[in-house]
Amino acid sequence: MNVDVAIVGGGVSGLATAYHLSRAGHQVAVLERQARAGGNAFSERIDGFLMEHGPSTVAGNSVEAISLSSALGLDGSLCHLGNGIEKRYLVRDGALHAIPLGPMGFVRSGYLSVGGRLRMMAEPLLPRRPEIGREPETVAAFCNRRFGPEFTKFVMDPLIGGIYAGRPDKLAIDAVFPKFAEFERRHGSVTQGMLAGRRDGKSMPGRRLMSWCDGVGSLPAALAAYLGGNVRTGTTVQRIKRVGNTFSVETQGHGSLWAKSVVLAAQPHVAASLLEYFDPEGARAAGAISAPPLAVVFLGFQRGRVDHPLDSLGFLAPSSEGSAINGVQFCSTMFPNRAPDDHVAIAAYLGGARNPDLGDQPADVLIDIVRNELGGLLGFHGEPTVAHVRHWPRGLPQYVLGHKERAETLAHISDRVPGVFVTGNYLSGLSVSDCLENAARVAGQARLFVNGRENDQASKLAL
Ligand SMILES: Cc1cc2nc3c(=O)[nH]c(=O)nc-3n(C[C@H](O)[C@H](O)[C@H](O)COP(=O)(O)OP(=O)(O)OC[C@H]3O[C@@H](n4cnc5c(N)ncnc54)[C@H](O)[C@@H]3O)c2cc1C
Repeated sequence: MNVDVAIVGGGVSGLATAYHLSRAGHQVAVLERQARAGGNAFSERIDGFLMEHGPSTVAGNSVEAISLSSALGLDGSLCHLGNGIEKRYLVRDGALHAIPLGPMGFVRSGYLSVGGRLRMMAEPLLPRRPEIGREPETVAAFCNRRFGPEFTKFVMDPLIGGIYAGRPDKLAIDAVFPKFAEFERRHGSVTQGMLAGRRDGKSMPGRRLMSWCDGVGSLPAALAAYLGGNVRTGTTVQRIKRVGNTFSVETQGHGSLWAKSVVLAAQPHVAASLLEYFDPEGARAAGAISAPPLAVVFLGFQRGRVDHPLDSLGFLAPSSEGSAINGVQFCSTMFPNRAPDDHVAIAAYLGGARNPDLGDQPADVLIDIVRNELGGLLGFHGEPTVAHVRHWPRGLPQYVLGHKERAETLAHISDRVPGVFVTGNYLSGLSVSDCLENAARVAGQARLFVNGRENDQASKLAL
């Protein structure tokens, strides 16, 4: 079979790439290893509860997510993060501390010491780092320098644990929070840069999160439905060969197909093994990106069996607390429709680079850990109605020092091997909205390539 573009991997990235190409009139084939498309964006109803196996929120200001939601007819089921929520929780000294939402939250709460708060507030007064001799910096080094060590340990560390399941002393500031580094360069301070953004009407994305009635998985499910038979599930790509200016995409047990262009939209270790044959430089870059195992433990309880009011989005824990859990979401508070009447649901995230040995522990061990740790913090009584675990053997890609260079190498594969493109959550942002933006960009590049090739052929025929 011949297609214009073969897309390896049917997660959000691959499906969105295929959607844009298909809308532009190109023949596509999405080859997905699993029996279900969607990758880690998978929402499942279990006894009336909604478990998000992967992402649970999408940035509410994502242009791509909003326009796809509307084009795919999902607007009727859009839901926004609980408006009445006024605080977030962080753990310190074994107890939950409520922090008011908003930029002054940490200043108003007693979560940080007075010295820590003064040091944090002094950020706009500090000199900017000289450009000359500027070494790559980790998130921890950047935050220590700008906001002080207490902020790094008790605010940034839990945040990085929650978003990346990562460690601030390993992740690179220019890859994880490129805006922060840019604010310092352009405005002399992160605070000044944020204030300038607010003056220009740019709000903090975290305040506007959204999902759909049946979860984030609704989006890939709608994309897959739109693409219909162009998505081939249960199809593992084993090897890609370049034959002249065409690609032979070989699958396990499902034969080969021919494509003018190939988009790799699978995880970095898969890209590394497929690129090995024709782009060793790209293969090395992709192979250096690790994604340690991660687990999600979902618990549903009768309301009366949990003492805590669950009046927030959840909580995060600094690694200094020695907790096995990186963070917890109060799912039934975040969005409607997550638990049956008179029940509540929570999800705990374990593993990642913070606790790499925990992510692949057996389900019963993880459930016990979560019930023991949370039992004290949230006050559980009796048995949960539902207890379910999702293992992600390759969890979230870690944007460690050197990541930006690796991502650049991968973004420029088509300069070395014309017609091959890479997209996914390990390039320039791991959120669903980052993946959608990246997919739209890569679809545009693949379209240009295929159109250019067709024009070349037409001119040759005309001669
Ligand atoms: C637990 C968890 C919670 C998260 N929470 C959030 C959140 O709240 N908000 C947010 O914005 N983001 C969140 N994320 C991140 C976001 O979900 C992901 O970054 C995004 O869904 C990745 O999509 P993707 O298509 O790039 O990759 P994936 O979803 O990993 O898809 C890659 C696909 O490639 C397929 N594949 C692999 N090898 C082959 C092969 N050889 N042949 C064919 N197919 C192959 C895989 O089966 C998979 O379906 C979370 C992620 C996880 C794991």
